[in-house]
Amino acid sequence: MKKTKVVKIGNLEVGGKNPIRIKGMLKTPTSKIDLLVKEAKLLAQEGTEAIRLAVEKEEDAKIVKILKKQISIPIAADIHFKPQLAIAAINNGFDQIRLNPLNISDKKDIKRIAQLAGEKNISIRVGVNSGGFRKASISEADLAKQMVEKTINYIQLLESQKFFDIMVSLKCADITATVTANKIFSKQSSYPLHLGITATGSYLEGITKSSVGLGIMLQKGLGDIIRVSLTTDSVTEIKVAKYITQSLNLRKFGPEIISCPTCSRCRVNLPEIVDSFRKKLDEIKYRKPCKIAIMGCVVNGPGEAAQADLGVAFGKGEGVLFRNGKTFKKTSEDKIIDDLIKELKEYE
Ligand code: SF4
Repeated sequence: MKKTKVVKIGNLEVGGKNPIRIKGMLKTPTSKIDLLVKEAKLLAQEGTEAIRLAVEKEEDAKIVKILKKQISIPIAADIHFKPQLAIAAINNGFDQIRLNPLNISDKKDIKRIAQLAGEKNISIRVGVNSGGFRKASISEADLAKQMVEKTINYIQLLESQKFFDIMVSLKCADITATVTANKIFSKQSSYPLHLGITATGSYLEGITKSSVGLGIMLQKGLGDIIRVSLTTDSVTEIKVAKYITQSLNLRKFGPEIISCPTCSRCRVNLPEIVDSFRKKLDEIKYRKPCKIAIMGCVVNGPGEAAQADLGVAFGKGEGVLFRNGKTFKKTSEDKIIDDLIKELKEYE
């Protein structure tokens, strides 16, 4: 896959040889500033590398100044329908604006926005979502082609103003259409791609659709920055985005837990052990990338545990700890969390 151009959101480089970036979105209403700041801080702590805020009215554009006193990650403004909001967002100090070609399309407006963005040295994301294409009978392939066509036409308008700090997103609720659109676009352009599957559905459906859709594209070498969209809180979206990139070995954010699905051979409450262990790792902010295997019995347990940096294979009433392929200590269901944490700390 060819390398994309490097485009910045504030000081964050996206594209080229940079790692896949992770973007988050603020969900708190802009009228609740204290809660909005709290959410932004939580996202920053979780490892979000850029944040997007929906700017619906002129006062929203000023919020960037408050947020920038509290967090150091770049902030993008999501703009629809009103070009004057894009101007206000740029003037107030947002690091990127997202424009939707389906609802800001007047050439004079685009020219004005591109000129100001150029002067202030900020990037523009051209973001097309399938929701703007209202024909119900359109095929996935046609939808993808139309989305790319709209995007390319819009890019040409920006380029005609000598504006080239562009990134692009082509998002649908349908995975096939999203993958097709991003594939077609990447053959025609080297602007960096912001990937996402939009309107993914309820919690587990949403995580599954995001993981499958983003997984396919990332595995094909598409994408420079991702945003996981879920109908749940924004911190969970970042956790899922990190797990997706980590599971493809594209980024390393912290320990990977390898645990078995359990079966009738398992004699311990493995789901509870794994859940408590993950919570404990998050609580102590343990970030060292490593593999920790927690296995229910001796059938696959010792094999998996032995291949991990640290692991445990349970038997009847007790477990055996492994490190780098060698057993070194016995443990029990009651002590396993403390034992694993102690070993991780010693291993640091
Ligand atoms: S490791 Fe053992 S308990 Fe876990 S699924 Fe495999 S056979 Fe069952």
